[in-house]
Parts: sequence; structure tokens; C-alpha cells
Amino acid sequence: MGQVILLLQVFLALLMMVSWTRVVEARPDVRSSDPHAVEGMYEPSISDMQALHADEIGSIPLGNPDSMINDIPGEPLSPEDFSVALNMVHDTIDTNKEPDPIELAGLYEGDIAISDQNELHDMVTGREATQRNAINDMTKRWPNGVIPYVISSSYNSNERATIAMAMKNYQEKTCIRFVPRTYERDYIHIIKGDGCSSSVGRVGGAQAVSLGPGCLYVGIVMHEFMHASGFWHEQSRADRDNFITINTANIQDGMAYNFQKYDWTMIQSLGVDYDLGSIMHYGPYAFAKDRRRPTIIPRTTGAEIGQRRAFSNSDILKLQKLYNCASTTGITEVATETPITGPVTASTCEDNNQYCSQWSTMGECERNPTWMNVNCQKSCKQCGKECPDNSEHCNYWMKNGECQNNAAYMTLFCKKSCGLCHAPSEYTEGQCEDKNRHCKHWADDNQCRSNPNYMLVWCKQSCNKC
Ligand SMILES: [Zn+2]
Repeated sequence: MGQVILLLQVFLALLMMVSWTRVVEARPDVRSSDPHAVEGMYEPSISDMQALHADEIGSIPLGNPDSMINDIPGEPLSPEDFSVALNMVHDTIDTNKEPDPIELAGLYEGDIAISDQNELHDMVTGREATQRNAINDMTKRWPNGVIPYVISSSYNSNERATIAMAMKNYQEKTCIRFVPRTYERDYIHIIKGDGCSSSVGRVGGAQAVSLGPGCLYVGIVMHEFMHASGFWHEQSRADRDNFITINTANIQDGMAYNFQKYDWTMIQSLGVDYDLGSIMHYGPYAFAKDRRRPTIIPRTTGAEIGQRRAFSNSDILKLQKLYNCASTTGITEVATETPITGPVTASTCEDNNQYCSQWSTMGECERNPTWMNVNCQKSCKQCGKECPDNSEHCNYWMKNGECQNNAAYMTLFCKKSCGLCHAPSEYTEGQCEDKNRHCKHWADDNQCRSNPNYMLVWCKQSCNKC
């Protein structure tokens, strides 16, 4: 019986290949010597895609969310990792000369993880409903620009520093903040999966950002984080054909769906012009059959596409606009749909991960006390220990100003050293003052929003909550 089904599957696959070949053959041959000649160029449109993809969808992998389940989280990026990041020489990748790591995962458009088969079907057939829009769907933004994260314990020091450097770029250039996750419902889980991938925007619950072997470049990490923030690839924009030409003849068989463009109901430009220099743009040889010939040709002669070094100015502008960043540190009060509210931390001593007790049995409380003691309090028997430092380096870091410079980490894991241990008697409702000397600095760093549990109680004045 199994063999019959197998044969049937093979037959169907062959049938699909034949129909696919016919569609390919029907296209005009693209061998113009003028890279900018439009005549004869086949331009895929959503209606063409429908015919191609309805049958093919089953073969597009969605990404494997199960890999998060098998991962053991490690310590969040510490001041040490940020310090290594600053002193390290970071390799870059040139997608004009080397394969682009974003193609490694083999997912939709290379590195976009889709939550389920229905969503994928709607997307490739152009039937994406408005409510499923990523960048147009404001509910997919991260409230207050705060992206809580959990990072796998499988990264070595240099890899952690690479990820830290990417986060630092967001920290310096935008108002997006990556904060170690404690009790937040929605968060990203950075795993060493197969290739590099991310969903577009906030999905709900835990969502994987895979940074597997071959992905540990600052620019690639920034690219994946920009997907997670809510951005599609630049060449998906409705107006892309004014700026690039797609050389469909050189696209690998069955990969044309990766060059789909979306209309403005699906994505929004945020009023920012098309940007060949975006970190989110495909490189010239994306999905090329023959890597000596491009699949994407910029209409501006000599323009570089597919850079993976840094944010372009437009990338920064778009992030700023999507999140209503008033500056790199502030989000404008008017535009945030989620009011900032204080303490969400569990008041009782609870684990915040279902695998805590399992990990504790495996010895993780001893191996990784910093993360475990905070997130698996109960399983690691930390209940009743009110306000410890969770890293042996806390005091040293505090002396080096890290309570200010790395507040996201320090306020969570070095409470004692940063002066965040307060007896309940110290807390008086209604009294409007800062209770910590770092309050002003933290407030300037957007901590009223990214760390409201502490800030709205102890830094009322600096957070304007009087
Ligand atoms: Zn991508």
C-alpha cells in the first residue's frame, strides 16, 4: 500500500515538473546584451504566480518551530559579550562574490519562516488577506519597540559577540530594544537551526530566529532581526520594477516564487523610496541557476545590491517610522498602541518555561546559573532568595558603568550590584521620586518602556509617571 502511494507521489511530482517546464518554455528568452532592456524580459506577476504555485506549495518548507523545543537557552548577552563585540574584527560577506547566507535555510524567499501552510498558500497565490499583512498589520509590531529574546546556549563567545554587535546597531540607530525575556508572552528564540531565518513581525508566543552555521555575520543577523521587526525583502515592493529587472531565465527551476512582489495592501513603503542599498535587498545572484549571470539587475548602472554590512539610511528611517521612534531612544507617546504598564513579573516564585524542571535535572541550574536562576526560579530552588546578583561579575560590571550601559541585562541579572534591591517598605504609592541614581540615564535609554516592571515603580519621576 505504501509503495502504491509512493509511486503515486512520484507520478504527481513528475506531472508537476512537466507542467512547470511548459510554463518556463512559454517565457520569452532573456539574452539581451543590454542589462536594462525591458523588452523581452519576463516579469512575474501575482496572476502568473497563481498558476505556478498552487501545485508547488507543498514543497516549500515552512521552517521548523520544533527546533526551539529541543534547545537549551543560554545566558542572555552580557556586558562581557558586548565588550568582546567591540574589540573583535567582524567578517563581512559580499553577496556579489559569495552565496548569500539568507538562501541557506531554503525557506520561502530563502529565509522567511511562515507559520502555517494556509498562510503560505495565501501568500504565494496572492490571496494574502489584509489582516495577515505583516508590515501593514500593526498588531504584528512589537509593543513599544521592545523585542524580548531568549538565546540558545549553543553559541560560542565569538558568535555571541556577533549577535551582540547586531543588537548594538539596533540600540544605537533605532528605538528597537532587545531585552532578555522573563515573563513576556511574545518573544524571539535565537537558535542555531538550519540556515538563517525569521518570521516577519511578531507572530505571538515564542518565535524562532535561526542563526545557524554560515549565518554568524553581523549584517546577516541584522537582516534576520529586521524581518522579525516586521520587514519583507526590499525587492518585494510593488514599485520594484522601476528600479530592478528580474532575469527570470536564470532563476533556478521552481524558485520563481521567491521573486514575488506584493501590492501595497500587503506591504507599505512608509513613505520611504525604494532602496537598492537596503540590507533587506536580494543580491544580484539570488537563486541563480548560473552564478556567472545575475538574476537581478539594478536599473541604475553600477549600483550595488545585496549589501550585508550595515543598515542603509533608508533602513534606519523605515525602522524609525514603523515604530514611531522620536529619536534613537524615544518612541512618541501618541502613536504607541500599547500603553506601558508596570509589573508583569510573576509575583510568586514560578518557572517561566515548561522545561525548567527537566533542565534542572540535567544540571543546568549549575551549568548556567545566570539564566536559570532568574527564569527557572522554582526548579533551581531560588524561591525566597529575594535579590541576588546572578553573575559573579556583577560587582565588577557595576563599577565599569554597566548598570547604565547594559541596563537590559544588568537590571535583570545584577539587581543587587545595581542597587535594585528594595524592601517593600521603601515603596510608597503616590510618592513621586526616583529611587535609584541611575533612573534618569535608564529613562533616557527607553527603559521606562523596555523595563517597566522596575522603572514604573522605582523611577517614577524620570518616567514622567507623577
Ligand atoms: Zn531575508
